Amino acid sequence: MVGVEVTWESPVTAVGGKHAAKLAKLPGIATVGDLVATYPKQHVQKGSLSQLDELTAGDLVSFVGEVASARQFSYQDKRTRRTAYRLEVRVRAEDGALLMTYFDKAKHTADWRLQTELPVGRVGVFSGRLKWFRDEWQLTNPASRLYEEGDDAVDTMPDLIPIYSSVGGITTWQLEETIELALTLLDRVPEVLPPAVVQSRDLLPTRQALRWIHRPDTRAQKAMAEKRLKYDEAFVAQSVLARRRLLVEGTVANPRPGRPGGLLDAFDARLPFALTEGQVRVGEEIAEELARDHPMQRLLQGEVGSGKTVVSLRAMLQVVDSGGQAALLAPTEVLAQQHQRSLERMLGELAQGGMLGGSEHGTRVALLTGSLGAAARRTALAAAAGGEAGIVIGTHALLEDRVQFADLGLVVVDEQHRFGVEQRSALGAKAGTPPHVLVMTATPIPRTVAMTVFGDLDTSTLSELPAGRGEVQTTVVPIRARAAWLERAWQRVREEVAAGHQAYVVASRIDPGDDEVSTADAPAGAPEDAPRTLYAVDELAPELAEGPLAGLRVEVLHGRMPPEDKDRVMSAFAAGEVDVLVSTTVIEVGVDVPNATVMVILDADRFGVSQLHQLRGRIGRGGHAGLCLLVTAADPLGPSMERLLAVAGTRDGFELSRIDMEQRREGNVLGTQQSGGRAGGLKLLSVLRDEAVIADAREAAFEVLRADPALVGSPDLAAAVRRLEDSEQAEYLEMT
Ligand code: ADP
Ligand code: MG
Repeated sequence: MVGVEVTWESPVTAVGGKHAAKLAKLPGIATVGDLVATYPKQHVQKGSLSQLDELTAGDLVSFVGEVASARQFSYQDKRTRRTAYRLEVRVRAEDGALLMTYFDKAKHTADWRLQTELPVGRVGVFSGRLKWFRDEWQLTNPASRLYEEGDDAVDTMPDLIPIYSSVGGITTWQLEETIELALTLLDRVPEVLPPAVVQSRDLLPTRQALRWIHRPDTRAQKAMAEKRLKYDEAFVAQSVLARRRLLVEGTVANPRPGRPGGLLDAFDARLPFALTEGQVRVGEEIAEELARDHPMQRLLQGEVGSGKTVVSLRAMLQVVDSGGQAALLAPTEVLAQQHQRSLERMLGELAQGGMLGGSEHGTRVALLTGSLGAAARRTALAAAAGGEAGIVIGTHALLEDRVQFADLGLVVVDEQHRFGVEQRSALGAKAGTPPHVLVMTATPIPRTVAMTVFGDLDTSTLSELPAGRGEVQTTVVPIRARAAWLERAWQRVREEVAAGHQAYVVASRIDPGDDEVSTADAPAGAPEDAPRTLYAVDELAPELAEGPLAGLRVEVLHGRMPPEDKDRVMSAFAAGEVDVLVSTTVIEVGVDVPNATVMVILDADRFGVSQLHQLRGRIGRGGHAGLCLLVTAADPLGPSMERLLAVAGTRDGFELSRIDMEQRREGNVLGTQQSGGRAGGLKLLSVLRDEAVIADAREAAFEVLRADPALVGSPDLAAAVRRLEDSEQAEYLEMT
């Protein structure tokens, strides 16, 4: 290998050594940089077993010790009826001893030979999961590495031993060895931070940080290394966002200041309620930004029912008053259709521009979805292209090439998490100059997550609900304890319907043969949950209609129905012609039927916390008290029940969103679960806990990019930004 330069970007095979070729085959480890950024999942203290008291079965234990005794047993395997072998090795550490039990899967494998050769007195590292068996703790088939005899093993061994996740058959020791080799061979390690930032934050140089993240001598060194590398992660992620943000700031948009005596004023005059304080405040923020000559890039978050739609409609009207058009992008057909209905209802005669009896300065609302008939589509396309429609509502169909606008001034995206930056900009491309953008989300996002995921947007929050909102009481119905309680739930539905109200029944599946459709963000199946049959909409609806809800008008709604059926059912429900809507989570977002007062969620433990909160936001909207019943067969003492009780216990969406994120794996917070990696290139940084670091790195990154937008003076940072932008993860960072 003499003369071959090993750089950060070199393929991992450039390191040479015994294991590099094998490592190169692993996903996520392509370059030397990737390899070196594969950090240990923990460091174990030489000889420490003191932690044993605090551990429970299943915990990972790694420790250094000396073989005290080893005995081999043979026994008859019940299943294969062959002789099998068991090796029991007692390992002594400074502060205790632990039994290792090895079973031979195929005798005479290298592993087995190694284990049977564990001579008394040898020192090694042992790592495995703790199990309580025959009245004592033990590790079954632990990974082990023995130190060479005669090399003063214990003395030369570091106090802290790195333990890496073993992936693809590569052991922690092999990784350690290869990484160490790589760090020695690398003659330059990129520095993404400006020297001034390193100095003022008292951070380690990168190379030192990398050494200590792998092989620290002390916990303090490890902490310093983490501090530096976390900062790097935050800084690069924020640089990506800053770049995007500054790009937009540098572009020119048409100011849309509105017009006194126009549509907006006429709309305000006919509004049947007073705007909440929050709606006024946010409304002013938006109005001011629309009047500027840079595109607005704003995220509007607010509880379900906090009145975001009114705020966005007022923004749209200001743009129409300025001679422009607004597009409202909805995630589903059901929602797009409903937006059209409710916008037209709120606008009344103001939505009948150019029609007989319409208001003099009225406009029109056009709907464009994938399922429109040819004639309706032509009409809508013409109204968008000709400018007669001041407001165009649609689903993804709005993004198609043939959709043209006369003068698109504002794009409103409802429920951002289903649309990505790319879709936003696809719509933007339909405008002559970049349009203003307003993104709305009902999923409350903790500040740090907003800074990371939506870091290129400004944020407004509607934190109060309009007055006169009915209280929604949420109750957990544990049917494992008392099956009869389910009967009581149906009884409550009947009572509400008898009182003239309507009900939702939500299930997690469409038909019994399906996988669940709705549990993407539910925590992984808790161990308490034995497999069981889950309720399915298609099966449940007839059962209810013939059984406990006999005589009521029951209809089904789910995502696999043809769009015209969905629309028919939703319209009938909105018109009060259906008593009970049995549905999947398609009703999760935005559906607004004020007369619905009760919701029964079956298999509630199958839904995520935020999802349940969203679902129950569908009831109690009309000033009537609402009741949400979370039906579950989960263990009354298990973690699922804890989540459900949390949902029942608070209506604070931010609090619930926090609980939700804490329960999901951190990688999921940024929107996806990546095998072997985490979204956004984040390995050490926690978007929930590292608020101070993220905020500080954000400021520093903006400063650097403001002074040098093309990063000419920071080639290492430029390369890191490019890598993140290119990586699949960057895509997820945007698409969450
Ligand atoms: P969101 O989109 O935030 O979930 P909406 O805009 O759909 O909320 O509002 C929910 C309901 O509250 C709608 O029926 C709307 O007309 C009504 N609403 C909005 N703002 C107010 C207000 N200031 N006072 C009373 N009702 C309001
Ligand atoms: Mg809404």
